[in-house]
Amino acid sequence: MSELLTASTTDDYRSLVDESSARVAVRFAEVTQPSSGASRAELQRLVDGVDLAGSGVGGSAAIREIDELFLANAVWFHHPGYAAHLNCPVVIPAVAAESILAAVNTSVDTYDQSTVGTLMERRLIETATGWVGFGSGDGVFTSGGTQSNFHALFLAREAAVPTIEEPRSIALSRMVVFATASSHFSVGKSALLLGLADDAVIEVADDGEGRMLPSALDAALDAAAAEGRVPMAVVATGGTTDRGVIDPIMRIADVCDAHGVWLHVDAAYGCGLLVSRRRRHLLTGIERARSVTVDFHKSFFQPVSSSAILVRERRDLAAGAWHADYLNPLENDEPNQVDKSLQTTRRFDALKLWVSLRAIGADRIGEMFDAVIDLAVEVGDVVDDDPELELVGRTQLSTVLFRVRPDGASPAEQDALVAGVRRVLFESGRALVAKTVIAGRPCLKLTLLNPETTLDDVREILAMVKGAASTLASIDDELELVGVDA
Ligand SMILES: *Cc1c(COP(=O)(O)O)cnc(C)c1O
Repeated sequence: MSELLTASTTDDYRSLVDESSARVAVRFAEVTQPSSGASRAELQRLVDGVDLAGSGVGGSAAIREIDELFLANAVWFHHPGYAAHLNCPVVIPAVAAESILAAVNTSVDTYDQSTVGTLMERRLIETATGWVGFGSGDGVFTSGGTQSNFHALFLAREAAVPTIEEPRSIALSRMVVFATASSHFSVGKSALLLGLADDAVIEVADDGEGRMLPSALDAALDAAAAEGRVPMAVVATGGTTDRGVIDPIMRIADVCDAHGVWLHVDAAYGCGLLVSRRRRHLLTGIERARSVTVDFHKSFFQPVSSSAILVRERRDLAAGAWHADYLNPLENDEPNQVDKSLQTTRRFDALKLWVSLRAIGADRIGEMFDAVIDLAVEVGDVVDDDPELELVGRTQLSTVLFRVRPDGASPAEQDALVAGVRRVLFESGRALVAKTVIAGRPCLKLTLLNPETTLDDVREILAMVKGAASTLASIDDELELVGVDA
């Protein structure tokens, strides 16, 4: 008997995968809230109770156990009560593709390990650079937006180094990156990993709603040059994680061109606009970027991981090439994706997007993203009209930022309620919302990425938010009455 998936075990393979998908299907059908609400102590007890040192219970028993341990307590992004982070429900063709790529276990590092898979990934990259509007361009799939941003800034660094006539270490200490306070934290983290100075990320002023001011960028570039710093890259965000607003890319590109600096557009969140018929214009100017981050696992409804870095100039990717005798020696003229990637062994994630495009088409994906943006507009109006709620800015994508203001609550009390409300909902498992800080004040955040969620579903979440807030506020009042410091 063999446990490996081989020619002689295809019946075992079918029955175990069938059983797994059957269990998942039952959970999808029967789940009544986005999470079980089990406490961390209870989950820890369940996890610690599993014997990982023994000889094994067999596939079927192990999957049954996973049903009760993991599926019973998972966080379900398809449930309309889930509105916390940038996680999407996934399209079925992509899930089917995921099971195919896991079984075949292709690694798209060298051509001799993936052959047709390499050509398919390359074709998809061509498709994606076409969406962006790069004339030719290139790119590679990555594990996520964090890696794509890191990779892009690495390429920008390598492009900047040869322009400086001094030892590399000194050049690095002078390099700077420009981004707004609303840019993703992976920008700052990348600067750290790339060996730049502690003060290398220069915060560019925004318009008060989180969008970069091109005039402020222009001034910041001048100021940095006057201080002897070397502008390495400007990061414009094509949909900020919290406010869901888009930097004015075209005008930022003008400034970047005038200063001769690398423009990176982080469209991890907003990339779904690339295939939207109604809102593609929001990303106008993205074709002038030198590099772009897209996260298909955010707004293309793909299972994690599915992301890519795209570049306008083919040759830019070469900065990360490295040649190993055993894998991709210089004289090898095969199309080795490892020459373009920061990873070596790498999943064939491209297959999921490929199957999705073939099964339902890019237009449909764009419509699905449009649907969540439409919903966010409606929810924004509902929040704005509700005297118990306070809308914090307007999104261009699908987040809704707000605070609760129960009768008579001061701003400080409203701020204090944010964390409590999130926790009460989280512990109930009935609705999951996020919290963040905008202009120094905490607020609640809904991230809407489920095109089947209705306005009524969101009204229910808002009702739970208000219920939790008034309970917390009245507990607070009672504690005050009896003289306890809450
Ligand atoms: C989510 C996000 C990222 C990071 O992407 P991961 O796939 O989570 O690594 C980067 N930039 C923005 C704007 C994001 O919203």
